[in-house]
Amino acid sequence: MKIIAIGRNYIEHAKELNNPIPKEPMFFMKPETAIIKNNKPFFYPDFSKDIHYETEIVLVINKVGKNIEPKFAHRYFDEIALGIDFTARDLQQVCKEKGKPWEIAKAFDGAAPISESIYKNKFEDLSNLNFSLEINDQLVQQGNTRDMIFTYDVLIAYVSKFVTLKIGDLIYTGTPAGVGPVKIGDRLVGKIENTVLLDFLIK
Ligand code: ZN
Repeated sequence: MKIIAIGRNYIEHAKELNNPIPKEPMFFMKPETAIIKNNKPFFYPDFSKDIHYETEIVLVINKVGKNIEPKFAHRYFDEIALGIDFTARDLQQVCKEKGKPWEIAKAFDGAAPISESIYKNKFEDLSNLNFSLEINDQLVQQGNTRDMIFTYDVLIAYVSKFVTLKIGDLIYTGTPAGVGPVKIGDRLVGKIENTVLLDFLIK
């Protein structure tokens, strides 16, 4: 399986990192070794001093697909999850300045914690979903999927032009504003609507 992560899909987040508002989606990938499941702890890596959380709605792909048309894209996922796109912001900044790829900042071990997945039909409206992150009981990030620049359908269509989607692939759909650092000892609690889906420690 593979993890496809969308960058800059919320206007306020693009602005907070001084990035232009994109005209088409952008994505990068993380390997399977980035996954952390079952709320196991994240171990702070020694190569960064500025690991940031990015809280994201994740689509769980249920079907093989290539060149998927937007109107059929909803058929390619039945479940969603909540994920964190951990980013070594200090390394990413250097990559951006030097025009290097982002993998060392985004694809490292443990950089993609993910919750259990939930049937999408449990939610009234996937394009109006509140999700949030608290660190040590303080609300640090709160988003709503209606603020996505590119919808799920557009993202699936775009990604599948370049990369065949397979069963079990994950698409992290981008983070709203409010990203920031974590430190050892923090407890991260992530919710979709009022359901706690992530609850894990930084060690
Ligand atoms: Zn992200």
